[in-house]
Amino acid sequence: MGIRTGDEYRESLRDGRTIYVNGERIKDVTTHPPFQGVIDTIAWLYDLQHDPAHQALLTYPSPADGKPVNLSFLMTETAEDVERRVKCEEFRAEATFGLMGRMPDFMNALVADAAVVKDSFGKQNPQFGENILRYYELCRDQDLCLTHTLVDPQMDRSKGPAEQTDPEAALHFVRETDRGILVRGARMLSTLAPFSNDIWVGPFYPRKPGEELYTLCFSIPMDTPGLKFICREPYNNAGRSRFDRPLSSRFDEEDALAVFDDVVVPWERVFINGDIEASNYILGKSPGYALLQATIRGTVKLRFMAGLACYAAEAVGRTAALHVQAQLGDLIAQVEVANGLLHAAARDVVRNRREGGSLRALAAALWVFIPQTQMKAAEVIRQVSGSGMIMTPTEQDFRNPEIAPYLEHYLQGRNLPAQQRTQLFKLVWDMLGEQFGSRQLQYEWFYAGDPMFTRSRFYRSPAVEQYKAMVDRVLTGENTPPARRSS
Ligand SMILES: Cc1cc2nc3c(=O)[nH]c(=O)nc-3n(C[C@H](O)[C@H](O)[C@H](O)COP(=O)(O)OP(=O)(O)OC[C@H]3O[C@@H](n4cnc5c(N)ncnc54)[C@H](O)[C@@H]3O)c2cc1C
Repeated sequence: MGIRTGDEYRESLRDGRTIYVNGERIKDVTTHPPFQGVIDTIAWLYDLQHDPAHQALLTYPSPADGKPVNLSFLMTETAEDVERRVKCEEFRAEATFGLMGRMPDFMNALVADAAVVKDSFGKQNPQFGENILRYYELCRDQDLCLTHTLVDPQMDRSKGPAEQTDPEAALHFVRETDRGILVRGARMLSTLAPFSNDIWVGPFYPRKPGEELYTLCFSIPMDTPGLKFICREPYNNAGRSRFDRPLSSRFDEEDALAVFDDVVVPWERVFINGDIEASNYILGKSPGYALLQATIRGTVKLRFMAGLACYAAEAVGRTAALHVQAQLGDLIAQVEVANGLLHAAARDVVRNRREGGSLRALAAALWVFIPQTQMKAAEVIRQVSGSGMIMTPTEQDFRNPEIAPYLEHYLQGRNLPAQQRTQLFKLVWDMLGEQFGSRQLQYEWFYAGDPMFTRSRFYRSPAVEQYKAMVDRVLTGENTPPARRSS
């Protein structure tokens, strides 16, 4: 099949899936009004792959039949291949301003990561390794859109899933059937669920001995019997215009609780069942395509946020002050560091694919630097915007002749007519203040998992001994010029 069109993607969502929003089961997600904007955005991304102006950048020929497939499935062999991945994913992240953390590229990359380390999946049961490779080929050649869910429900985090008062709550293996494995329980969260074709249940936080039943990796179609999604309240739900909600109206990816109500996972879709070692170490052995895609997306979003900070300050004449210039300059400098990290991260992937090893720059960028800098960018935007981001009348206000002249008069900016100034600050408010914006901040902080967990991993990395050894050299007098050594 190869790359799909936007219409083919839309059609694929009409499959009888079980999606609840605001207490109601949604018969057809493609016609549910709050979902229209984001479905249009994803469909447009699918269509872009067919645009002759972009096809060479966004696709490559499938090894199966030569038909063009999405480049985020490419298994890289050389630095040039990785560079192609970067360019394609950067283009698509730019197209969405880095605001769609789970655009299809992310899971395409993750499934490619998994396929590269298929042998690790297959250690306990070689069939699981074969399954992952076949599944990667299916996703690539059918151009599927995936959601994923990695984390147990947030019940009592001081205990593991087996020790909870209700050990049945977290998704777990129940029994084998002739068709596959029966699973039950829930996972939290699943971003993009209503707009995906399949759900990937994957490993993430380490499992301990005794948690074998919860140690699962599989992927199944969204319309699998027993699979249900309970969505959070959509943020694009007020019927507001693009002027009023420039971002929520296009990029609200949705998040859902994934409920597995006695779901049978067919054998060919089972990748891990009870293998704690595979679950804990597999993704660390992968080339890092998913981390790279996420780093690209996060960096692009930082560029967007930096642009927004500059525009907001300029709109009200605040850039005349040196300290505001310094504040913005500091942010821009950090974005430049992120740009640099992106290139270092791409080199990590090249090296890692060739010889294995750690993804130090990539992980440092994604787990620490990018979320931290995004929080900083949000703070700068707030500070330079002042009341501007609050006093934002609606498009309808500007259409009312009784008040429009006041607005035109009193809401002008520096060299900016009132409507344009308002539109800019509406964007700021949507980005930081609206439900959409608040969720974005929360999302970025937890994007790569619990920030305490990810940061603490650096303390356990080999770099620590290397850095401490420098201190040892001073303490032991090593590297001291001979003449000055005390005898
Ligand atoms: C908007 C959004 C979208 C998401 N989408 C997805 C998705 O699509 N797929 C998916 O799999 N997951 C998704 N997640 C979930 C994400 O993986 C989790 O948020 C993340 O792993 C952290 O888990 P948690 O939310 O349960 O927080 P918790 O693990 O409960 O952590 C909450 C806080 O407690 C702190 N903490 C941890 N240990 C301790 C301790 N011992 N003492 C004190 N404090 C501690 C943590 O640092 C953290 O600040 C999403 C999350 C958000 C916010």
